[in-house]
Amino acid sequence: MRILVIEDNLRLGELIAQGLYERGFTCDVANSLGAAEGALAVAQFDVMLLDAGLPDGDGVEWLATRATRPLPPTIILTARDGIDDRIKGLDAGADDYLPKPFAIDELAARIRAVLRRPGVRQQSVIEVGDLTFDPAAMVASVMQRRIDVSRRELGLLELLMRRAGQVVRRDQIEVALYGFDEPVTPNAIEAAVSRLRRKLEEAGAGNVLHTVRGVGYLLSES
Ligand code: CA
Repeated sequence: MRILVIEDNLRLGELIAQGLYERGFTCDVANSLGAAEGALAVAQFDVMLLDAGLPDGDGVEWLATRATRPLPPTIILTARDGIDDRIKGLDAGADDYLPKPFAIDELAARIRAVLRRPGVRQQSVIEVGDLTFDPAAMVASVMQRRIDVSRRELGLLELLMRRAGQVVRRDQIEVALYGFDEPVTPNAIEAAVSRLRRKLEEAGAGNVLHTVRGVGYLLSES
């Protein structure tokens, strides 16, 4: 499941991304409405978390007036927790409203609740050649046989599968898989890629995970 976190407080954005990652979600953080527009233009998100006060505008007003639809289901995260603010947020098209500060577990539960609503796009299984990834069950398979991978390898595989055929840069992997406070040693990503590549090969997927020297990694069909 891919979440767009629109939050200008860098530290909070990273904490949310890391907390949700540990609970099985993959997050992209946008620090402004402009960055959010950019992310929405190139990727599909299952849920959007929207801070109300952003450097280039008011998140709730943006939600109400944004011309390009449909938007992913949206939860507003804000320190404004007056009844009027909640009503304004929900009227603007938000699906839920969570006042700051909040517990990550509650946020994760609310995301799951939003995803269960009728009409919300069901999470579809991603397929790339013989590989399948089921985001709801968090299971990766090669030719219908489940492969045993760690949480981080699974996140890496999901990221590469969602962008199959394209080079995913090392810094994009770092942002998606590692938290703000987590030291990333220079070869941590390389080691994770090597383990994943070996497991894919052992499962019969063939040579599908390629290193693009000095840039990043690419997953191909075979
Ligand atoms: Ca803010």
